[in-house]
Amino acid sequence: MNIILLGPSGSGKGTQGAILARRLSVPTIATGELLGDAVQRSTELGREAKQYMDRGELVPDEIIVRLVGEQLASPDAERGIVLDGFPRTIRQAEAVNRLLAERGEGARAVLLFDVPEEELVRRLLARASAEARSDETPETIRQRLDVYRRSTAPLVGYYRELGVLTIVPGTGTVEEVADAVKRAVGK
Ligand code: AMP
Repeated sequence: MNIILLGPSGSGKGTQGAILARRLSVPTIATGELLGDAVQRSTELGREAKQYMDRGELVPDEIIVRLVGEQLASPDAERGIVLDGFPRTIRQAEAVNRLLAERGEGARAVLLFDVPEEELVRRLLARASAEARSDETPETIRQRLDVYRRSTAPLVGYYRELGVLTIVPGTGTVEEVADAVKRAVGK
């Protein structure tokens, strides 16, 4: 079962993705985390990605699509995957369709985590001070929300037309949101 989680930074995708993946016993592919690891290890990919991440911009589609393609090819991913933070552009969404179609599959559900912008900013500022992430300054937070509106929000219409979109209110407790996710996924 393949599930796509959509929503801006701070909307709870990461937390809910981890809970859902555990429940379904499938791996999560979280592109932000994969990139963060690559930056930490200072791999070639990490050094290239860091320039974009530090500015709050999206890493180019071809880099991300290759990264996800590699993860999808792992035997772990055979039973399904939870995609967290990918796709983030229409081109990435088309690439996911292609990658899943190659496995004779599609996305069972696309969940959009709906959280008001002022709540997102509050959460992201709290996380920035807790984790000291170099890409979470007030300027990059604003920039990332802008990039979301411009590049990622169009995916909402794209998936709505495909008939797979469910909007999950993202403002309750972790347990309440996890229950809403469970209902949306149907198991
Ligand atoms: P996140 O923790 O998911 O917000 O990701 C942190 C940063 O990694 C983002 O601000 C982007 O620079 C980059 N990133 C993560 N996922 C993607 C993606 N699917 N496409 C492009 N850039 C991404």
